[in-house]
Amino acid sequence: MSSTVNEITCSQCGSPMHLANPASRSARCEHCGAHLDLTSPEYEVLSTFHRRNLPRGLRVGLSFFWEDRSYILRGVIGYSGEGATWYECLLVSEQGDVRWLEFDSGRWSLHEPFRPSAPSDPSAQSSSLELDGTRHQILDRGTMRVSYIEGELTWKLKKDEEVYWVDCQQVGVEWTENDIEFFKRQALSDYDVVKAFGNRIRPKPVEPQQQEEASNFMNILLAVFVIMIIGMVLWVILSESRSSSQSTQYAAEATPTPEYRSSSSNSTRVFYGGGFSSGSSYSSGGNSYSSGGRSTRSSSYSGGGFSGGK
Ligand SMILES: [Zn+2]
Repeated sequence: MSSTVNEITCSQCGSPMHLANPASRSARCEHCGAHLDLTSPEYEVLSTFHRRNLPRGLRVGLSFFWEDRSYILRGVIGYSGEGATWYECLLVSEQGDVRWLEFDSGRWSLHEPFRPSAPSDPSAQSSSLELDGTRHQILDRGTMRVSYIEGELTWKLKKDEEVYWVDCQQVGVEWTENDIEFFKRQALSDYDVVKAFGNRIRPKPVEPQQQEEASNFMNILLAVFVIMIIGMVLWVILSESRSSSQSTQYAAEATPTPEYRSSSSNSTRVFYGGGFSSGSSYSSGGNSYSSGGRSTRSSSYSGGGFSGGK
């Protein structure tokens, strides 16, 4: 990869820029924020973007390992529309394969670009999209505006430029006046994405509802524990009083041999042993709690499928 690194000079501030992807058509200068058109000989400044902290610690340069292939996050586009902001991350493999990882309202989807041999016009107000003989029902369509760019892109975009999109279940299209991209898409779970990034992005924050559920569960567990302790104490007291009334009986029989006393203290020990064994059943209850926590999270993953919330 290092052999393809291209060194240029920012046309706005003169800082050196290292370009990693030979297919890039635009790139942002880390120093001054100028987003340059790499297809123009003068590296014309398209827009300027001030640095932003991306959600979950996403950043250019991260490695992403997916389906036996390693990618590097080369560029990020932030889009705004209808009061929401979402991000598309450009992933480029060493062989030059391109994927887009979309992060929209906490949901991830991976887009694999493809060139249909017989594309239909996505801008036509139709309810379906016909691609290579397959008809895909259109679920949603809209317009978004470029609000942020970082790194290098295979697209040439300006700030506030409008990008049109159409979403179907398994395919999607995004286009501007100059570019169009058809892609296959698949929803990825948060767990898969964090793992693909080698745990170098932050895990999904726990939602307040989940926190509340967890604390409710802890309260129930605490109550069960307290009831068990009270039960054990009562049991011990009862057994003590029973064995002491027994020894009073023995005393009344006027043969208070030391053997009897030691046998009564043995019986007390047996009860203590019983107490400990119920204690171990509590700790297995603790285990079932932690596995309950995992299943809660995994069920929220399965619900985290892409619902076209653009
Ligand atoms: Zn610059």
